[in-house]
Amino acid sequence: MSKKIYVIDPERCTGCRLCEIVCSVKHMGISNPAKSAIHIIKWDQEGFYLPMHCQHCEDAPCMAICPKKAISRDEVLDRVVIDYDLCIGCKLCVSACPFGAMGYDPDSKRVFKCDLCDGDPQCVRFCDMKAVDYVETSHHSLQRMRESSERYSEVMRKHCGA
Ligand code: SF4
Ligand code: SF4
Repeated sequence: MSKKIYVIDPERCTGCRLCEIVCSVKHMGISNPAKSAIHIIKWDQEGFYLPMHCQHCEDAPCMAICPKKAISRDEVLDRVVIDYDLCIGCKLCVSACPFGAMGYDPDSKRVFKCDLCDGDPQCVRFCDMKAVDYVETSHHSLQRMRESSERYSEVMRKHCGA
């Protein structure tokens, strides 16, 4: 069975931020973008909106830095997960993530990240534009990922000199 991958398409994102609301409601029971595992990074002048969340990196810096080995890879869904029985809340993973994709919730005193909604991503379900999508790995989906990365690099070079 081919694996599914989470694909981002900034060209389709309208910046409505519904995904942030959906994610926070599902995981935290509250409508609060600060408690969402996905964030929309906006370049308004450019008309460019980038949905950003955990990339479930092969060589994940959060996993490497965790002193309690509380972060691991779930091979079934190809995702990076937190074991809260092991986590001590030191937040090293929050600072290690290059995408700012790991959050900290001061109310529950827990770090949090995208868990792909256990294979049924709710942000995808509610995004009518399909700016975020969860699809079978294919030439087309990989091409969409590549185009998204190229567009992101282009905007970063223009605005941040990256
Ligand atoms: S906060 Fe938890 S998951 Fe993150 S590095 Fe510390 S122990 Fe590991
Ligand atoms: S897949 Fe689920 S956990 Fe991940 S950003 Fe979307 S709603 Fe949040």
